Amino acid sequence: MSQSPSPQRQIALSFDDAPRGDGELLDGRTRTAMLIDALDRTGVEGAGFFVLTENIAKFDGGSDRIAAYHAAGHVIANHTHTHPSLNKTDVDRFLADVDQATELLSGFDESIEFFRFPFLREGDTTEKHRAVREELAERGLRNAYVTVDNYDWYLQALVDEAAKSGHPLDHTVLGHLYVQTLVEAIEFYDALANRALGRSPRHVLLLHENDLAALFVDDLVLRLRELGWSIIPLNDAYEDDIAEQQPDTLFHNQGRVAAMAHAAGLDPKELVHVAEDEIYLRDMFEDEGILPKPDSPANE
Ligand SMILES: [Zn+2]
Repeated sequence: MSQSPSPQRQIALSFDDAPRGDGELLDGRTRTAMLIDALDRTGVEGAGFFVLTENIAKFDGGSDRIAAYHAAGHVIANHTHTHPSLNKTDVDRFLADVDQATELLSGFDESIEFFRFPFLREGDTTEKHRAVREELAERGLRNAYVTVDNYDWYLQALVDEAAKSGHPLDHTVLGHLYVQTLVEAIEFYDALANRALGRSPRHVLLLHENDLAALFVDDLVLRLRELGWSIIPLNDAYEDDIAEQQPDTLFHNQGRVAAMAHAAGLDPKELVHVAEDEIYLRDMFEDEGILPKPDSPANE
């Protein structure tokens, strides 16, 4: 597949684990409405929502919320029923979980095309990796890899911790930290792609369907555009040549670009962005006043 050069760097947005339950800042229904509105206002079309189907019945309005993402023109995709890690699950049980999700998703969309591995774990042995890859292809499911990994889930955990403790949240500072952390991760993986592939591919950003995304994804989109990025539909991102390339490595859990860089011989230590680290992010949140600084010497 040949590609004409694009004047702009390109990235698609994807949101995992939908529909998530009520958060500390937003209930689930409000979060969904805000996310759809934010994507609509900023003109983002065809974002991906990777559904954890056991959540549909578990959380209030789960079914309505998935239907709403679909009705808004976003892509509904399979993220398994119960979020098993393939590295800790045998192939048959893993596939049964995938199939259960397919069954439940057929009520929303009869032609689910994309599948994302929970935890981005694609198998701890080459045999498992290959077996599941073949079985997914048999089912007509494509591997919806990401190219930009990050710890947005941990940022949310820190915000939840702050909210629960009653610490006042400065939304301006919080939005800035969210956007800045993600932009840095995107630039990191784009630079890595330039080293490993010699070009900037069509990227896929991993996000989660959480309160921070609902509150600040519009700011993120605007900032990315300022930096020369174009936000593309998820389907378009998977037209990139890297979608056809299966790196010969078991190093998958930081996304396709890192896997390709690993297969090309780069040191694994160079493949992790500095902000993919809980201590780093906690320190940042304390420094910026989102979390109270631990003042007791015992905490140092
Ligand atoms: Zn997930």
